[in-house]
Amino acid sequence: MLLIRLGASRGGPEAAISLLVDKAGSAKMAETFRRRRVLNGQYWSGDPYVKLLLDAMKHSGCAVNKERHFSCEDCNGNVSGGFDASVSQIVLCQNNICNQAHMNRVVTHELIHAFDHCRAHVDWFTNVRHLACSEVRAANLSGDCSLLNEILRLHFGLKQHHQTCVRDRAIRSILAVRNISKEVAQKAVDEVFESCFNDHEPFGRIPHNKTYARYAHRDFQNRDRYYSNI
Ligand SMILES: [Zn+2]
Repeated sequence: MLLIRLGASRGGPEAAISLLVDKAGSAKMAETFRRRRVLNGQYWSGDPYVKLLLDAMKHSGCAVNKERHFSCEDCNGNVSGGFDASVSQIVLCQNNICNQAHMNRVVTHELIHAFDHCRAHVDWFTNVRHLACSEVRAANLSGDCSLLNEILRLHFGLKQHHQTCVRDRAIRSILAVRNISKEVAQKAVDEVFESCFNDHEPFGRIPHNKTYARYAHRDFQNRDRYYSNI
């Protein structure tokens, strides 16, 4: 999801942390959350999807600094994370992220938006097709649809389920941050679907599970080595 934060939370990590202090009731508690969820990077950086994306960001000239580019906040509804393009920051919704696997998936999804923001001139705020493209890529490559896909394929033989899941999730993500009709969101997703669904950068493939993601990471590192040797 591409996040638009309103009011006090806009303004970088310091503002976000002071907001947290208010909500948590004490600076000590806020510090505990901050340390556990963000500064203690190994909490999620061992995940192969995250590792590959962090490498790809660095390779594209947008090295991620955990303190600068991540913020833990309480979020409305059942939102679990977001990318705030205006300050290049990923928000992790500490009140809605329930376990390690969920955390890894959220960080992966948002890092795909950050990667798109880094590599391309993305017009997040006025061009709904740009947003649609990044949401298709995030749903396709983050594993959001893969586990369910595997189960359903096993049980019901629905080959097209992955595509359907990606399309539905992209539409839902757009509708969560844009005040537009469902028809407009569907049209934007359908217009970009084929090219964006087939754009697997930086994975080079759809990483359906951690094993695929590990292979993708290895290939990315080799690709890096190959280019640096030219
Ligand atoms: Zn998204």
